[in-house]
Amino acid sequence: MKINSIIEFVRDVYKTDEFVPLHAPTFQGNEKAYVLDTLESTFVSSVGKFVDDFERKMETYTGTARAVATVNGTAALSAALYLAGVKRNDLVITQALTFVATCNALYHLGAEAVFVDVSLTSLGLCPVAMENWLSEHAELTEQGCVHKKTRQVIRAVVPMHTFGHPVELDELTRVCSKWHITLVEDAAESLGSFYKGKHTGTVGDYGALSFNGNKIITTGGGGMVFCKTPEQGVRAKHVTTTAKVPHPYEFYHDEPGFNYRMPNLNAALGCGQMEMLDTFLRQKRVLAQRYKEFFAGSEFNFVEEPEYAQSNYWLNAVICENLYSREALLAQMNEAKVMARPIWKLMHRLPMFAHAMRDDLTNSEFIEARLVNLPSSPVEL
Ligand SMILES: *Cc1c(COP(=O)(O)O)cnc(C)c1O
Repeated sequence: MKINSIIEFVRDVYKTDEFVPLHAPTFQGNEKAYVLDTLESTFVSSVGKFVDDFERKMETYTGTARAVATVNGTAALSAALYLAGVKRNDLVITQALTFVATCNALYHLGAEAVFVDVSLTSLGLCPVAMENWLSEHAELTEQGCVHKKTRQVIRAVVPMHTFGHPVELDELTRVCSKWHITLVEDAAESLGSFYKGKHTGTVGDYGALSFNGNKIITTGGGGMVFCKTPEQGVRAKHVTTTAKVPHPYEFYHDEPGFNYRMPNLNAALGCGQMEMLDTFLRQKRVLAQRYKEFFAGSEFNFVEEPEYAQSNYWLNAVICENLYSREALLAQMNEAKVMARPIWKLMHRLPMFAHAMRDDLTNSEFIEARLVNLPSSPVEL
Protein backbone atom coordinates (compact mmCIF):
# COMPACT_ATOMS: atom_id res chain seq x y z
CA MET A 1 0.00 0.00 0.00
CA LYS A 2 1.30 3.47 -0.92
CA ILE A 3 1.81 5.75 2.06
CA ASN A 4 0.45 8.61 -0.02
CA SER A 5 -2.90 6.87 -0.18
CA ILE A 6 -2.97 6.72 3.64
CA ILE A 7 -2.27 10.46 3.80
CA GLU A 8 -5.07 11.12 1.27
CA PHE A 9 -7.44 8.91 3.23
CA VAL A 10 -6.82 10.81 6.47
CA ARG A 11 -7.12 14.20 4.74
CA ASP A 12 -10.41 13.08 3.23
CA VAL A 13 -11.73 11.94 6.63
CA TYR A 14 -10.91 15.28 8.28
CA LYS A 15 -11.73 17.35 5.17
CA THR A 16 -8.64 19.53 5.51
CA ASP A 17 -5.39 20.46 3.80
CA GLU A 18 -4.00 21.87 7.05
CA PHE A 19 -2.07 20.05 9.76
CA VAL A 20 -3.95 17.01 11.10
CA PRO A 21 -3.22 16.40 14.80
CA LEU A 22 -3.27 12.99 16.48
CA HIS A 23 -6.08 13.88 18.87
CA ALA A 24 -7.55 17.34 19.40
CA PRO A 25 -10.30 18.33 21.83
CA THR A 26 -13.58 19.91 20.68
CA PHE A 27 -16.02 22.00 22.72
CA GLN A 28 -19.40 22.04 21.04
CA GLY A 29 -21.74 21.41 23.95
CA ASN A 30 -22.29 23.28 27.22
CA GLU A 31 -18.59 23.58 28.06
CA LYS A 32 -18.43 27.36 27.57
CA ALA A 33 -21.62 28.00 29.56
CA TYR A 34 -20.49 25.89 32.51
CA VAL A 35 -16.99 27.42 32.61
CA LEU A 36 -18.49 30.94 32.46
CA ASP A 37 -20.81 29.98 35.31
CA THR A 38 -17.80 29.32 37.57
CA LEU A 39 -16.30 32.72 36.68
CA GLU A 40 -19.56 34.56 37.30
CA SER A 41 -20.12 32.75 40.60
CA THR A 42 -16.41 33.24 41.57
CA PHE A 43 -16.30 29.55 42.58
CA VAL A 44 -13.33 28.62 40.39
CA SER A 45 -11.25 26.81 42.98
CA SER A 46 -11.63 24.03 45.54
CA VAL A 47 -15.28 24.75 46.37
CA GLY A 48 -18.20 24.56 43.95
CA LYS A 49 -20.95 22.37 42.53
CA PHE A 50 -19.21 21.14 39.38
CA VAL A 51 -16.71 18.84 41.12
CA ASP A 52 -19.59 16.94 42.76
CA ASP A 53 -21.60 16.99 39.53
CA PHE A 54 -18.67 15.65 37.53
CA GLU A 55 -18.01 12.86 40.04
CA ARG A 56 -21.70 11.84 40.22
CA LYS A 57 -21.99 11.90 36.38
CA MET A 58 -18.96 9.62 36.16
CA GLU A 59 -20.38 7.23 38.78
CA THR A 60 -23.66 6.99 36.87
CA TYR A 61 -21.92 6.41 33.56
CA THR A 62 -19.36 3.84 34.70
CA GLY A 63 -21.08 2.20 37.65
CA THR A 64 -18.09 2.75 39.96
CA ALA A 65 -19.01 2.90 43.65
CA ARG A 66 -17.21 6.21 44.09
CA ALA A 67 -15.36 8.58 41.77
CA VAL A 68 -12.99 11.20 43.20
CA ALA A 69 -11.71 13.95 40.88
CA THR A 70 -8.03 14.92 40.94
CA VAL A 71 -5.70 17.47 39.28
CA ASN A 72 -4.40 15.01 36.70
CA GLY A 73 -4.18 11.34 35.85
CA THR A 74 -0.74 10.85 37.37
CA ALA A 75 -2.07 12.16 40.69
CA ALA A 76 -5.10 9.86 40.42
CA LEU A 77 -2.83 6.86 39.85
CA SER A 78 -0.51 7.89 42.66
CA ALA A 79 -3.45 8.30 45.05
CA ALA A 80 -4.93 4.95 43.97
CA LEU A 81 -1.60 3.19 44.62
CA TYR A 82 -1.25 4.95 47.98
CA LEU A 83 -4.77 3.84 48.92
CA ALA A 84 -3.86 0.31 47.82
CA GLY A 85 -1.13 0.41 50.47
CA VAL A 86 1.87 0.83 48.18
CA LYS A 87 4.83 2.18 50.12
CA ARG A 88 8.59 2.63 50.04
CA ASN A 89 10.51 -0.41 48.80
CA ASP A 90 7.38 -2.30 47.62
CA LEU A 91 7.27 -3.89 44.18
CA VAL A 92 4.51 -3.04 41.72
CA ILE A 93 4.03 -5.19 38.62
CA THR A 94 3.22 -3.31 35.44
CA GLN A 95 3.88 -3.10 31.68
CA ALA A 96 7.05 -1.82 30.05
CA LEU A 97 4.76 -0.86 27.15
CA THR A 98 3.00 2.12 28.70
CA PHE A 99 3.09 5.89 29.00
CA VAL A 100 5.73 6.98 31.53
CA ALA A 101 3.08 8.36 33.94
CA THR A 102 2.18 4.80 35.04
CA CYS A 103 5.70 4.30 36.37
CA ASN A 104 6.20 7.85 37.66
CA ALA A 105 3.18 7.40 39.93
CA LEU A 106 4.65 4.38 41.72
CA TYR A 107 8.18 5.81 41.67
CA HIS A 108 7.15 8.81 43.75
CA LEU A 109 5.71 6.51 46.42
CA GLY A 110 9.17 4.96 46.70
CA ALA A 111 8.05 1.70 45.11
CA GLU A 112 9.83 -0.13 42.29
CA ALA A 113 8.34 -1.32 39.02
CA VAL A 114 8.55 -4.89 37.75
CA PHE A 115 7.95 -5.20 34.01
CA VAL A 116 6.16 -8.21 32.57
CA ASP A 117 5.08 -8.72 28.99
CA VAL A 118 1.86 -7.64 27.28
CA SER A 119 -0.62 -9.69 25.32
CA LEU A 120 -0.70 -9.23 21.53
CA THR A 121 -4.52 -9.12 21.54
CA SER A 122 -5.01 -6.37 24.13
CA LEU A 123 -1.57 -4.67 24.00
CA GLY A 124 -1.96 -4.66 27.80
CA LEU A 125 -0.55 -6.72 30.68
CA CYS A 126 -0.62 -10.44 29.91
CA PRO A 127 -2.12 -12.55 32.74
CA VAL A 128 -0.12 -15.61 31.69
CA ALA A 129 3.16 -13.68 31.75
CA MET A 130 2.26 -12.28 35.16
CA GLU A 131 1.36 -15.69 36.59
CA ASN A 132 4.57 -17.24 35.21
CA TRP A 133 6.72 -14.48 36.64
CA LEU A 134 5.08 -14.84 40.05
CA SER A 135 5.45 -18.64 40.05
CA GLU A 136 9.14 -18.27 39.39
CA HIS A 137 9.99 -15.31 41.63
CA ALA A 138 7.38 -14.93 44.38
CA GLU A 139 6.02 -16.73 47.40
CA LEU A 140 3.10 -16.17 49.74
CA THR A 141 4.07 -15.32 53.31
CA GLU A 142 2.44 -13.65 56.33
CA GLN A 143 3.45 -10.26 54.88
CA GLY A 144 1.65 -11.11 51.65
CA CYS A 145 3.21 -11.86 48.29
CA VAL A 146 6.98 -11.53 48.63
CA HIS A 147 9.83 -11.61 46.13
CA LYS A 148 11.87 -14.73 46.95
CA LYS A 149 15.30 -13.14 46.61
CA THR A 150 14.87 -9.51 47.70
CA ARG A 151 12.03 -10.13 50.21
CA GLN A 152 10.25 -7.03 48.88
CA VAL A 153 6.45 -7.13 49.10
CA ILE A 154 4.70 -7.30 45.72
CA ARG A 155 1.87 -5.00 46.70
CA ALA A 156 0.00 -4.15 43.54
CA VAL A 157 -0.33 -4.77 39.83
CA VAL A 158 -1.14 -1.99 37.37
CA PRO A 159 -2.40 -3.15 33.98
CA MET A 160 -2.98 -0.37 31.45
CA HIS A 161 -5.77 -0.39 28.86
CA THR A 162 -3.58 0.63 25.93
CA PHE A 163 -5.24 3.10 23.52
CA GLY A 164 -8.57 2.16 25.15
CA HIS A 165 -8.44 -1.60 24.48
CA PRO A 166 -9.37 -3.44 27.69
CA VAL A 167 -6.96 -6.01 29.15
CA GLU A 168 -8.11 -9.49 30.20
CA LEU A 169 -9.51 -8.45 33.57
CA ASP A 170 -11.08 -11.77 34.66
CA GLU A 171 -7.78 -13.59 34.29
CA LEU A 172 -5.81 -10.79 35.96
CA THR A 173 -8.32 -10.71 38.84
CA ARG A 174 -7.87 -14.45 39.30
CA VAL A 175 -4.06 -14.19 39.41
CA CYS A 176 -4.30 -11.24 41.82
CA SER A 177 -6.55 -13.05 44.29
CA LYS A 178 -4.44 -16.19 44.14
CA TRP A 179 -1.31 -14.18 44.98
CA HIS A 180 -2.94 -11.61 47.32
CA ILE A 181 -2.01 -8.65 45.15
CA THR A 182 -4.14 -5.50 44.80
CA LEU A 183 -5.36 -4.71 41.28
CA VAL A 184 -5.15 -1.04 40.26
CA GLU A 185 -6.27 -0.31 36.70
CA ASP A 186 -4.58 2.45 34.74
CA ALA A 187 -7.71 3.41 32.82
CA ALA A 188 -6.29 6.80 31.80
CA GLU A 189 -6.93 6.10 28.11
CA SER A 190 -10.11 4.06 28.39
CA LEU A 191 -13.09 6.20 29.42
CA GLY A 192 -15.97 4.64 27.49
CA SER A 193 -14.30 1.22 27.15
CA PHE A 194 -16.04 -1.83 28.57
CA TYR A 195 -14.77 -5.27 29.52
CA LYS A 196 -17.58 -7.84 29.26
CA GLY A 197 -20.07 -5.06 30.00
CA LYS A 198 -18.12 -3.61 32.92
CA HIS A 199 -16.50 -0.21 32.57
CA THR A 200 -12.69 -0.26 32.67
CA GLY A 201 -11.32 0.97 35.99
CA THR A 202 -14.26 -0.49 37.96
CA VAL A 203 -13.12 -4.13 38.07
CA GLY A 204 -9.92 -3.69 40.10
CA ASP A 205 -9.82 -2.41 43.68
CA TYR A 206 -9.02 1.01 42.25
CA GLY A 207 -8.91 2.64 38.85
CA ALA A 208 -7.37 5.86 37.58
CA LEU A 209 -8.56 8.04 34.69
CA SER A 210 -6.99 11.04 32.94
CA PHE A 211 -8.67 14.07 31.38
CA ASN A 212 -5.54 15.56 29.87
CA GLY A 213 -6.06 17.55 26.66
CA ASN A 214 -5.35 14.59 24.37
CA LYS A 215 -7.70 12.10 26.05
CA ILE A 216 -11.24 11.26 24.87
CA ILE A 217 -12.67 14.00 27.10
CA THR A 218 -10.66 16.77 28.74
CA THR A 219 -10.84 19.07 31.75
CA GLY A 220 -7.70 20.94 30.66
CA GLY A 221 -5.77 18.87 33.15
CA GLY A 222 -7.52 16.37 35.36
CA GLY A 223 -7.95 12.85 36.56
CA MET A 224 -10.16 10.64 38.67
CA VAL A 225 -9.82 7.79 41.13
CA PHE A 226 -12.43 5.00 40.94
CA CYS A 227 -13.06 3.12 44.17
CA LYS A 228 -14.66 -0.29 44.52
CA THR A 229 -16.47 0.48 47.80
CA PRO A 230 -18.05 3.64 49.29
CA GLU A 231 -15.68 3.32 52.29
CA GLN A 232 -12.63 3.41 50.00
CA GLY A 233 -14.26 6.41 48.34
CA VAL A 234 -14.54 8.33 51.61
CA ARG A 235 -10.87 7.68 52.30
CA ALA A 236 -9.91 8.63 48.73
CA LYS A 237 -11.65 12.00 49.14
CA HIS A 238 -9.98 12.45 52.54
CA VAL A 239 -6.39 11.88 51.38
CA THR A 240 -6.72 13.61 48.00
CA THR A 241 -7.83 16.79 49.79
CA THR A 242 -6.23 17.96 53.06
CA ALA A 243 -7.41 15.10 55.31
CA LYS A 244 -9.42 17.60 57.36
CA VAL A 245 -11.74 16.21 60.02
CA PRO A 246 -15.14 17.88 59.46
CA HIS A 247 -15.80 20.72 61.92
CA PRO A 248 -17.65 24.05 61.51
CA TYR A 249 -14.49 26.11 62.17
CA GLU A 250 -11.60 24.14 63.71
CA PHE A 251 -8.64 22.96 61.61
CA TYR A 252 -7.74 19.41 62.46
CA HIS A 253 -6.08 17.10 59.92
CA ASP A 254 -5.57 13.49 60.94
CA GLU A 255 -3.06 12.36 58.27
CA PRO A 256 -0.90 13.93 55.52
CA GLY A 257 -3.19 14.96 52.65
CA PHE A 258 -2.01 15.24 49.04
CA ASN A 259 -4.18 18.18 47.95
CA TYR A 260 -4.69 16.53 44.58
CA ARG A 261 -8.25 17.86 44.19
CA MET A 262 -9.60 19.10 40.88
CA PRO A 263 -10.58 22.80 40.80
CA ASN A 264 -14.24 23.62 40.11
CA LEU A 265 -13.16 25.50 36.95
CA ASN A 266 -11.80 22.29 35.42
CA ALA A 267 -14.74 20.20 36.62
CA ALA A 268 -17.12 22.61 34.82
CA LEU A 269 -15.34 21.81 31.56
CA GLY A 270 -15.55 18.12 32.46
CA CYS A 271 -19.33 18.30 32.99
CA GLY A 272 -19.76 19.82 29.54
CA GLN A 273 -17.45 17.23 27.97
CA MET A 274 -19.20 14.36 29.74
CA GLU A 275 -22.43 15.33 27.96
CA MET A 276 -20.56 14.87 24.67
CA LEU A 277 -19.01 11.49 25.51
CA ASP A 278 -21.62 9.36 23.72
CA THR A 279 -21.21 11.45 20.57
CA PHE A 280 -17.40 11.13 20.69
CA LEU A 281 -17.66 7.36 21.23
CA ARG A 282 -20.06 6.93 18.31
CA GLN A 283 -17.88 9.05 16.01
CA LYS A 284 -14.72 7.21 17.05
CA ARG A 285 -16.26 3.79 16.37
CA VAL A 286 -17.27 4.88 12.87
CA LEU A 287 -13.76 6.26 12.29
CA ALA A 288 -12.14 3.02 13.51
CA GLN A 289 -14.41 1.03 11.20
CA ARG A 290 -13.32 3.22 8.26
CA TYR A 291 -9.63 2.67 9.08
CA LYS A 292 -10.25 -1.06 9.44
CA GLU A 293 -11.89 -1.29 6.02
CA PHE A 294 -9.20 0.91 4.47
CA PHE A 295 -6.31 -1.23 5.74
CA ALA A 296 -8.05 -4.60 5.12
CA GLY A 297 -5.82 -6.90 3.07
CA SER A 298 -2.84 -4.52 3.22
CA GLU A 299 0.53 -5.04 4.91
CA PHE A 300 -0.63 -2.70 7.71
CA ASN A 301 -2.42 -4.61 10.42
CA PHE A 302 -5.15 -2.43 11.97
CA VAL A 303 -5.42 -2.87 15.75
CA GLU A 304 -8.95 -3.98 16.64
CA GLU A 305 -10.70 -4.23 20.00
CA PRO A 306 -10.36 -7.67 21.66
CA GLU A 307 -13.47 -9.81 21.03
CA TYR A 308 -14.44 -9.77 24.73
CA ALA A 309 -14.48 -5.97 24.86
CA GLN A 310 -16.00 -2.74 23.60
CA SER A 311 -13.17 -0.26 23.10
CA ASN A 312 -13.38 3.54 22.99
CA TYR A 313 -10.81 3.45 20.15
CA TRP A 314 -9.06 6.41 21.78
CA LEU A 315 -6.08 6.16 19.43
CA ASN A 316 -6.23 4.17 16.22
CA ALA A 317 -3.13 2.14 15.43
CA VAL A 318 -1.57 -0.11 12.83
CA ILE A 319 1.16 -2.71 13.19
CA CYS A 320 3.70 -2.33 10.38
CA GLU A 321 5.62 -5.25 8.88
CA ASN A 322 8.93 -4.22 10.41
CA LEU A 323 10.94 -1.35 11.85
CA TYR A 324 11.85 -0.18 8.34
CA SER A 325 8.24 0.20 7.17
CA ARG A 326 7.37 1.85 10.49
CA GLU A 327 10.08 4.47 9.88
CA ALA A 328 8.84 5.09 6.34
CA LEU A 329 5.24 5.56 7.52
CA LEU A 330 6.23 7.91 10.36
CA ALA A 331 8.55 9.98 8.20
CA GLN A 332 6.21 10.41 5.22
CA MET A 333 3.09 11.14 7.25
CA ASN A 334 4.74 13.72 9.49
CA GLU A 335 6.43 15.29 6.45
CA ALA A 336 2.95 15.67 4.91
CA LYS A 337 1.74 17.31 8.16
CA VAL A 338 -0.58 14.43 8.97
CA MET A 339 0.47 13.45 12.45
CA ALA A 340 1.53 9.89 13.15
CA ARG A 341 3.59 8.76 16.10
CA PRO A 342 5.34 5.65 17.31
CA ILE A 343 4.32 3.90 20.51
CA TRP A 344 6.27 4.89 23.64
CA LYS A 345 9.79 3.57 24.16
CA LEU A 346 9.65 0.64 26.58
CA MET A 347 10.03 1.81 30.18
CA HIS A 348 13.20 -0.16 30.92
CA ARG A 349 14.98 1.88 28.22
CA LEU A 350 14.48 5.07 30.25
CA PRO A 351 17.27 5.93 32.72
CA MET A 352 15.05 5.98 35.83
CA PHE A 353 13.60 2.51 35.18
CA ALA A 354 16.61 0.84 33.57
CA HIS A 355 17.41 -1.15 36.72
CA ALA A 356 13.88 -2.41 37.30
CA MET A 357 13.30 -6.16 37.41
CA ARG A 358 11.87 -7.43 34.18
CA ASP A 359 10.69 -10.55 32.49
CA ASP A 360 11.05 -11.59 28.87
CA LEU A 361 9.38 -8.75 26.91
CA THR A 362 9.10 -10.35 23.45
CA ASN A 363 5.59 -9.06 22.66
CA SER A 364 6.35 -5.59 24.04
CA GLU A 365 9.45 -5.36 21.84
CA PHE A 366 7.53 -6.63 18.81
CA ILE A 367 4.91 -3.90 19.23
CA GLU A 368 7.46 -1.22 20.11
CA ALA A 369 9.23 -1.81 16.79
CA ARG A 370 6.09 -1.78 14.63
CA LEU A 371 3.17 0.19 16.04
CA VAL A 372 2.13 3.56 14.65
CA ASN A 373 -0.77 5.69 15.93
CA LEU A 374 -2.91 7.53 13.39
CA PRO A 375 -5.07 10.66 13.67
CA SER A 376 -8.03 9.84 15.89
CA SER A 377 -9.90 13.04 16.81
CA PRO A 378 -13.66 12.57 16.89
CA VAL A 379 -15.22 13.58 13.56
CA GLU A 380 -18.71 13.28 12.03
CA LEU A 381 -18.51 10.90 9.07
C1 LIG B 1 -2.52 10.11 30.04
C2 LIG B 1 -2.05 8.97 30.82
C3 LIG B 1 -1.83 9.03 32.22
C4 LIG B 1 -2.04 10.24 33.06
O1 LIG B 1 -1.71 11.40 32.48
P1 LIG B 1 -1.89 12.87 33.06
O2 LIG B 1 -1.25 13.67 31.98
O3 LIG B 1 -1.17 12.94 34.36
O4 LIG B 1 -3.35 13.17 33.20
C5 LIG B 1 -1.44 7.87 32.88
N1 LIG B 1 -1.26 6.73 32.23
C6 LIG B 1 -1.47 6.62 30.89
C7 LIG B 1 -1.30 5.30 30.25
C8 LIG B 1 -1.84 7.73 30.14
O5 LIG B 1 -2.02 7.60 28.82
